[in-house]
Amino acid sequence: MKPGPSPGPGDSPTGTVGVNPAMSRIAVTGSASGIGAAIRARLEAGNAKVIGVDLREAEVIADLSRPDGRAAAVAAVRAACHGRLDGLVVCAGVGPHVEPWSTIVSVNYFGAQALLAGLRETLAAGEAPAAVAVSSNSALLPGADTPLVAACLAGEEDEARRLAHELDGHRAYAGSKLALLRWTRRHAPGPGWAGAGVRLNAVAPGPVRTPLLEDSLTHPLYGPAIRDFPVPLGGFGAPQDVAAAVAFLLGPEAAFCCGSVLFVDGGTDALLRPDMV
Ligand code: NAD
Repeated sequence: MKPGPSPGPGDSPTGTVGVNPAMSRIAVTGSASGIGAAIRARLEAGNAKVIGVDLREAEVIADLSRPDGRAAAVAAVRAACHGRLDGLVVCAGVGPHVEPWSTIVSVNYFGAQALLAGLRETLAAGEAPAAVAVSSNSALLPGADTPLVAACLAGEEDEARRLAHELDGHRAYAGSKLALLRWTRRHAPGPGWAGAGVRLNAVAPGPVRTPLLEDSLTHPLYGPAIRDFPVPLGGFGAPQDVAAAVAFLLGPEAAFCCGSVLFVDGGTDALLRPDMV
């Protein structure tokens, strides 16, 4: 771990960017790049002390694709926040083009779920605590709901990794993100989360200009599919668009949000599934 330069609790709590000034210790996985880096910047602008978790350039260096890396990350975050965490954003992830496909499942679902579960009690000790899972609007696309989703939710990582190899990158990615949404919705209203005063919500971004998306666009199969994806507002989103939604869900203005899934996708989900409410 390296010491963070962020201000401490109580330093200039202006709240001007919509972040609860009392929420001074927030862990963000995937903080070194793209959406996670934008979330980090947004929270730090609101005087939060961010504990980044990533493969590189973070307070906590950990590989969330592996059980030992997840356990080490949970322990290091607990130590860095002295046992009281006010916010958690599980954002680390890899795209549908990353092989082997089993890596997608291990990082995007098991890496996220392990941090949520492992830090729940630490959040419960925090001030107005909240957590946000970064999913994807691809979780609701046709073909996403395969047996891989059930294997994830049953905690069967070896089986989920085996099933990912039988599928393809898109269905492994969409399945991992669907499982993360279902885990969020199943747990958010329960005694361990809402009952313990910890709000748990999710965002479902559409295509957002980040290194992950740029890499995906070079893939011979997924690149054209992503370019053809209908986005009613046009073009791709910016990482800051997602960071704003995450900051809202973490902050006091979302005080009554629990198990919500906020689509930040330029209207794609509404276009493709208008009656799914
Ligand atoms: P990105 O590649 O810019 O950032 C991802 C970050 O996760 C990187 O810093 C990377 O080092 C980290 N990471 C990857 N594997 C890791 C591991 N094993 N252990 C620890 N950290 C690891 O990507 P992004 O586009 O900012 O994606 C962030 C999240 O948003 C992902 O979960 C992604 O699935 C999701 N998302 C992205 C888009 C998009 O179009 N960019 C759309 C929907 C959802």
